[in-house]
Amino acid sequence: MNSDTWDYSIFWKEAIFQIKEAISEQEFVMWFNNIKYNSSKKSEIIITVPSSFYKDQIIQRYLPLIESKLFDLSGNRVTIGFKINKKDFGKKKTVSSEKPVPVKKNKLPHYQLRTEYTFDSFVIGENNSFAANAAVAISKNPGKEYNPCLIYGGVGLGKTHLIQSIGHSAYSTYDKMKIVYITAETFTNEFILSIRNSTTHKFKNKYRSVDLLLIDDIHFLQNKTETQEEIFHTFNALYDLKKQMVFTCDRPVSELKQLTDRLRSRFERGLNVDLQPPNFETRFAILKKKIENKKIPISDEIIELISKNITTNVRDLESALTKLIAYADLVNKNITLDIAKHQLKDFFSEYKQSKITMDSIQRCVAEYFGLSYNDLRGRKRTKAIAFPRQIAMYITREITEYSTTEVGIEFGGRDHTTVMHAYQKVENRMRTDSTLEPTIKALIRTIKEVSTKS
Ligand code: ADP
Ligand code: MG
Repeated sequence: MNSDTWDYSIFWKEAIFQIKEAISEQEFVMWFNNIKYNSSKKSEIIITVPSSFYKDQIIQRYLPLIESKLFDLSGNRVTIGFKINKKDFGKKKTVSSEKPVPVKKNKLPHYQLRTEYTFDSFVIGENNSFAANAAVAISKNPGKEYNPCLIYGGVGLGKTHLIQSIGHSAYSTYDKMKIVYITAETFTNEFILSIRNSTTHKFKNKYRSVDLLLIDDIHFLQNKTETQEEIFHTFNALYDLKKQMVFTCDRPVSELKQLTDRLRSRFERGLNVDLQPPNFETRFAILKKKIENKKIPISDEIIELISKNITTNVRDLESALTKLIAYADLVNKNITLDIAKHQLKDFFSEYKQSKITMDSIQRCVAEYFGLSYNDLRGRKRTKAIAFPRQIAMYITREITEYSTTEVGIEFGGRDHTTVMHAYQKVENRMRTDSTLEPTIKALIRTIKEVSTKS
């Protein structure tokens, strides 16, 4: 080989083939289906992966294995270089890598699963790719490696969508599999009812004989000691039988309160994966996906407007879109950017709260009390300044996410206990001084207005 034509593609293929033999199918699907050979240079193979997430994970998990295989095969020390290119992995950003073959045609839909919550309609971004890939792997091979699996994340980030997608996929792949989806709340209610009707044996049988158990929102189990006990035993029974269990929770299990240690340790066993809020690109892709195949006159410009302004979660994104679609339906008009802006004004201003800065609060409060901005932020302790300053701290705590420590720093480098004290003081004063609350409310309104305009 001369230096321009290094071609390691054959070695690469063989290395991948050998790795496939050496690791589990799930792992292979999860990571190696997301690697493409790109090119080779002297002593280096360049591969393409869809995101830096994959790059980091592959380096961490498989780099030594890949490099040693390549050394064995080629006799050269070949290093791996990475290129990141989402496009190489197809326009479809949905999970479905291989379509499961329906075992029985015309199989009735699963009665507990919502038809639209499938992998096909789930858009993958960096925020959720680990969870989504794990979910696909589980649905293809339930009970094998990622058992149990716990998917956690805040409201509206796709937990229910993903857990139900696992159900759908397994349901269409395995003909005889007994799949149960249930929320922790319904599980609790059924359990209580079974106690009342003296049918707990039936209840126990029902849940201990399933092949794939999907329990949504286990944070609901906090404080429910008896239900926790029941889930604990169900868990053990299914675990011993190597039946797959998937749970979702709105936070990491370690942060759940009033959960018995032994149940906590069961949930933490296996794989715990999180869902984060989507970034702009993913938000955009999700909205595009939602209007795909529907003849809805919503332009990319408008999709962009929504994606930029609603950053919290997917549910909020969808609500904004739904509102526009309803409007378009009702007035039978094409939606222009201006109409969209106008219609979604309230949505946006609500979400913009997070952009409120301490600076804008300080300016508004200082102006209201006729003080200078510097005095309000400073260390002077005369009464005329101290109380407005305490009000500003109170408002900051009320309408922003800044911690007391951060607030203290911005208000003359004060200690966080001073901020806590200020908050308490204003709250107490409101009880005795009936004019204070309306004043504060008016100030908050002004601050929000100023912040949305900027
Ligand atoms: P959670 O259970 O975490 O509160 P859901 O699963 O109910 O959230 O998701 C809220 C809405 O957002 C659902 O309509 C769901 O279809 C949609 N959604 C969430 N994540 C995605 C995604 N990655 N792709 C497409 N739709 C999504
Ligand atoms: Mg949910």
